[in-house]
Amino acid sequence: MRVYFVGSGPGDPDLLTIRAHRLLRECRICIYAGSLVNPAILNLIPGTAERYDSAGMTLPRIVDAFREAHRKGADVVRLHSGDPSLYGAIREQMNALGRLGIEYEVVPGVSSFQAAAAALKAELTVPEAAQTVILTRGSGRTPVPADQDLSVLGRTGATLCLFLSAGRIRDIAETLARHRGEGCPAAVVYRATWPDQAIVRGTLADIAGKTETAGVGRTAMVIVGEALSQEAPSSKLYAPGFSHGFREGKP
Ligand code: SAH
Repeated sequence: MRVYFVGSGPGDPDLLTIRAHRLLRECRICIYAGSLVNPAILNLIPGTAERYDSAGMTLPRIVDAFREAHRKGADVVRLHSGDPSLYGAIREQMNALGRLGIEYEVVPGVSSFQAAAAALKAELTVPEAAQTVILTRGSGRTPVPADQDLSVLGRTGATLCLFLSAGRIRDIAETLARHRGEGCPAAVVYRATWPDQAIVRGTLADIAGKTETAGVGRTAMVIVGEALSQEAPSSKLYAPGFSHGFREGKP
């Protein structure tokens, strides 16, 4: 018996990995993050399977469900949104399984920051402007360590992908504008890959107002950085005069 922590991707079932799809089709017990997993994905689970929405469950209750499944010898699919390694609270679940001697495995998924970049048709790393991507969040009920506050991370030119933060877009834009300037491009992608996906584009000066007008709050990814600008320099990779290990450049 094994517990599979499975990334369900950003929403569209087409973006499940083949492994995730197989595990869902074979599943006897599924514990899913109901607030974020698309019901179309849950429809892949056999009708006879037991299902639990983790949104209303505490950690001890989830661990009880693992223990019960272990007793029955039935594998569990523990379904998380996006990729389980990001803001998934999987560590405490894995620790509990370790203490119980129950085997577990993690199946990666397409994260929402990747789905948001695709929706924006953006490259998050562009030469000279941004060679680093930071996955982070604004501080709220869950505090962020002081050295990782946006007022610190905003001092770099890295592309920032902000999870769990769209509801605080006004504070975030104000903080980042102090370092990046009001003209720095910013975008909010609501429910990337879902049928009601919405995109708000702007700059740090106007993104908060535009986001509020669009009524976009939860389940949205905020991306900030010069990489979103159409004027960012192009890579040399395909430039005719540039040589690399696989191609001799011709001036
Ligand atoms: N593990 C997930 C993140 C879970 S935290 C992942 O890798 O994507 C939940 C946050 O993820 C939300 O507040 C939102 O910022 C982001 N998110 C999840 N699904 C999203 C989607 N379809 N579109 C935009 N943002 C999404």
